[in-house]
Amino acid sequence: MQTIFTDKETFKKVFIEEIKNTYNVDLKDSSIVQRYTILAKLLETNLDEAYRKTNAYIKDNNLKKTIYFSMEFLMGRLITNNLQNSGYYDVVKKAFQDLDIDLNEVEQSETDAGLGNGGLGRLAACFLDSAASLSLPLFGNSLRYQHGFFRQEIRNHKQVEHLDPWLDQPFIWETRRDHEAIDIPLFGYVEHTKLINPVWIKAVPYDVKIVGDQNGVVTTLRLWSTEPSDKQMMQDKKYIKMSKDISEVLYPDDSTENGKTLRLMQSYVFSAAGVKAAILEHKTLCRDIRKFHEYYTFQINDTHPTLVIPEMMRIFMDEEYLGYDEAWDITTKTCAFTNHTILSEALEKWNIQIFRNLLPRIYEIVQEMNRRFKRVLEEDGRFNREQMYFMGLIGHHHVRMAHICIYGSFSVNGVAQLHTDILKNIEMKNFYTLYPNKFNNKTNGITHRRWLIHTNHELVQILDEKIGTTWRQDLTQLERLDAFRKDEDTKKKIDQMKLAKKQALADYILKHEGVSLDVNSIFDIQIKRLHEYKRQLMNILHIIYVYQRLKTDPVFKKNYYPHSFIFGAKAAPSYHMAKAIIELISRSSEIINQDSDTNHLLKVVFVENYNVTYAEYLMPAADLSEQISTATKEASGTGNMKFMMNGAPTIGTLDGANVEIVEYAGEENNFIFGLTAEQVSEIHTNNGYKPREIFNEDPRLQNVFSFIRSMHENPQHFDYILNNLLNSDYFLVLKDFDAYAHAHVIANETYKDRSKWLEMSIANIAHSGFFTSDRTIEQYNQDIWKLTKIKF
Ligand SMILES: *Cc1c(COP(=O)(O)O)cnc(C)c1O
Repeated sequence: MQTIFTDKETFKKVFIEEIKNTYNVDLKDSSIVQRYTILAKLLETNLDEAYRKTNAYIKDNNLKKTIYFSMEFLMGRLITNNLQNSGYYDVVKKAFQDLDIDLNEVEQSETDAGLGNGGLGRLAACFLDSAASLSLPLFGNSLRYQHGFFRQEIRNHKQVEHLDPWLDQPFIWETRRDHEAIDIPLFGYVEHTKLINPVWIKAVPYDVKIVGDQNGVVTTLRLWSTEPSDKQMMQDKKYIKMSKDISEVLYPDDSTENGKTLRLMQSYVFSAAGVKAAILEHKTLCRDIRKFHEYYTFQINDTHPTLVIPEMMRIFMDEEYLGYDEAWDITTKTCAFTNHTILSEALEKWNIQIFRNLLPRIYEIVQEMNRRFKRVLEEDGRFNREQMYFMGLIGHHHVRMAHICIYGSFSVNGVAQLHTDILKNIEMKNFYTLYPNKFNNKTNGITHRRWLIHTNHELVQILDEKIGTTWRQDLTQLERLDAFRKDEDTKKKIDQMKLAKKQALADYILKHEGVSLDVNSIFDIQIKRLHEYKRQLMNILHIIYVYQRLKTDPVFKKNYYPHSFIFGAKAAPSYHMAKAIIELISRSSEIINQDSDTNHLLKVVFVENYNVTYAEYLMPAADLSEQISTATKEASGTGNMKFMMNGAPTIGTLDGANVEIVEYAGEENNFIFGLTAEQVSEIHTNNGYKPREIFNEDPRLQNVFSFIRSMHENPQHFDYILNNLLNSDYFLVLKDFDAYAHAHVIANETYKDRSKWLEMSIANIAHSGFFTSDRTIEQYNQDIWKLTKIKF
């Protein structure tokens, strides 16, 4: 099909005209933001046709759809992705060259869509890209937060949170659809299953186009925004504020009861709006409500969208007048659940008072579900009283969301093999006994289009030259690179690629953080949310130890290969320990970087406001990928996969998908250390761990603690961290410290043989094919969704 993007000259002409018409300026006088806006608008409009065709095809062929319900979609920028996937990137790049415009600079003026916190939200974004690229009718469903994940500033070494400004500029990629708005009832009370006097909220969908990779498919991410409803008679100031607050901010502070209610409202609104929209569509197409599950699968991404299940029950029973059993049959054939956590204290639960007050009819339905579930357990006969109580959908005055999901779904999946095994054998053991066939594994993945093709052109060139170009469609073909492990030309080029990416990152870090890095040093990177189980603390303790040793041990200093440690992480605003760890990293880095005795050998930088765009610079530039969580605690990780695909060996524990990374790339091509999942479980079961004993016997740790006490005018400043390590150390930082330090010695030694390191790097790239989210999505489709592909 001919479009303005097919031909460079046409595009140039239209682009110049649009700038002139819209802003009344000549191209040469236009700003970068104006250029960005026109480019994005032209592209967005151009996608309309494919969007219409995709939807028409699905409708005309009666295709089943998957709705991916997720509280988070961490999309990042869309401009590059949309240009590349629509196949217009090169035309625009060349046209801009003619016009003396730097396309990169234009791309950089787009603000990240940061509607997520981290891995879980980024996974959802990767899935949208993979499903569209595989021609699968999968649609995202979430909230349109006015403010996504906060912007982080480090001021005086401390994290300061600012509102995310993503909507300050118009978001070009969305379309508001007023006529598809849905009214959602909250509060009120129930009389004979009927909700009386609810407060009505209007949810308005904004559809974001998701572009498949040059296959003509354009699907949608639907983001619901909340507003006052016309159905609501009394519209005082308080009501209007509340209605808007629901989609105001991602993860509002939930330390108060009002905050908790607000979060539950968010969960309910996007779940209920998504369910209602699908049922309306189903009915508009004159399909039998009893066949709903033949046309829709609802994939529930973690427990935030749990209310999809009782809400379906409510509509089927109260509005479609089906009996309970029939409604339950359809619901459980529609819903599938993905579990993302192991930390049982992190399992989502809601206080009954809050729940019943906000959602009285939904609560009644959950009670009935619970009553029937208890009967199932009793009839099963394999569980004792206590076990049955702990398995309940309601218990300890709380509604247990994960239990509703397991009971109400036909599929329950973990996100890496180890994680699924732990769910089956430990965390959800009784549920697995009850429903062995529901449980399955879908190891996470990342879209190789964003994390390799779009962000590492240098590596793409090497791959194209060595193994041809078909790997783009079938990433397992990267394995053919393995034959080039010892090929000098390949090694030389991988070396040059890494250097170029490190230089680009060093430039970016100098500009944004004011720290200069030696590109010949080892770039050792830990970037992820700040959490105790991820053990950024172990990393900084080890860095301080290395620093002290460089100061005191001349032989060590002489042999130490220069090393740059890079951190990026946001801490939840109310997570005091995580914030203290950020301050510790930041203060240590200042001292270490200023020391001219050592700063040619050791630098530490904490990059501000780690997000998808920053990750796109960091991932390809890493020599070493830090994946050091306490074994059993990281469900999968996906950052680990991005690093691997860009050629960084992992220094890490056998946790989450690290286990599979090592299975594919070979243990000899990574630096694996520390306690195994079994050992960690044993320590936690036996309850006999005494961190202070380890401390008392390790002078390295004693010196590191002394250093930390000397860092601040108040020696007790970091006692919150230090005392926790000495008295509890739940995440076994001190226990794993020695093994970690040893792994670093080996890594540092290995890097000196650059040729050997490059072979390890190539092995990692060559075996990273499994970790494309295209594979993950194919597996979801084969085992769970069973969707038919769109074929024009
Ligand atoms: C991939 C990614 C994550 C997840 O990282 P993990 O190391 O798996 O926790 C978090 N944030 C951003 C911005 C990412 O791109």
